[in-house]
Amino acid sequence: MKQKNLLYTGKAKSVYRTDVKGQFIVEFRDDITAFDGGKKDRLENKGSYNAGVSAFIFGYLEKNGVKTHFVEMLDPHRMVVRELSMIPLEVIVRNVAAGSIVRNYPFKEGTKLDPPVIVIDYKDDARHDPMLNDDLIVALKIATAKELAEIRKIALKINVLLVKLMAAQGITLVDFKIEFGRSGKTICLGDEISMDSMRLWDKKTGESLDKDVYRFGKGDVMETYNRVAQRITKKPAAKRVPAKTKLIAVKKAGAAPKKPAAKSSAKKR
Ligand code: C5P
Repeated sequence: MKQKNLLYTGKAKSVYRTDVKGQFIVEFRDDITAFDGGKKDRLENKGSYNAGVSAFIFGYLEKNGVKTHFVEMLDPHRMVVRELSMIPLEVIVRNVAAGSIVRNYPFKEGTKLDPPVIVIDYKDDARHDPMLNDDLIVALKIATAKELAEIRKIALKINVLLVKLMAAQGITLVDFKIEFGRSGKTICLGDEISMDSMRLWDKKTGESLDKDVYRFGKGDVMETYNRVAQRITKKPAAKRVPAKTKLIAVKKAGAAPKKPAAKSSAKKR
């Protein structure tokens, strides 16, 4: 497979066309951002931890009957995915109150939410991803009522599967964000599921094992990502090179240091 032109670049991932019809390459970059891009850094190898966890989770979900865009990994940073027509929704499933719902509503952090709460935001950076409701989603023609029901059903199924996967590793799945796209008429899971998009707490200690470590300076982000990636995928920990795990501050938001151009000589499948 050959990587071709850049199609889209987000805060931490880039999407490239390929020479294979209907397949793209998603590159998980080493960039990390928080607070709507207000905090931004580059952490060497961070992309590979998120890519590895996403690939593992997509594989696990597929085995359990959830359709995803995942095809295969080309290398530790690059994932081959099926082309989807993305639906601009951020579907957040919450099992425990934390983060923005504690800031915005009178929930006490740590309160169990049973049944889980689904919150759907409009994926629009310029509008700061405002929260939607079903009527707005249908009126804006983002999705039909039928599609929305399907999205909720898949999101809850993913939640059950992920809660089980994390519990087996002694981790509480507090919440997570997922995105969907259409492949013809089929709704498929797209984007990523990683430490950037889940909130994970150690069951015994309550320690944060996700992007909150970066958001709130709770510790060594890369050490946490490495450890949690190992725990989730049950692989031996990658050898750490402490000198390379330091935060490299990016001075201006939107002025991330450029990565060398991605090689076009992608590994043959
Ligand atoms: O910030 P908030 O509490 O609403 O986030 C809920 C969950 O969704 C968290 O796990 C967070 O990492 C994830 N999220 C995300 N991308 C966003 C907003 C939230 O991955 N744009």
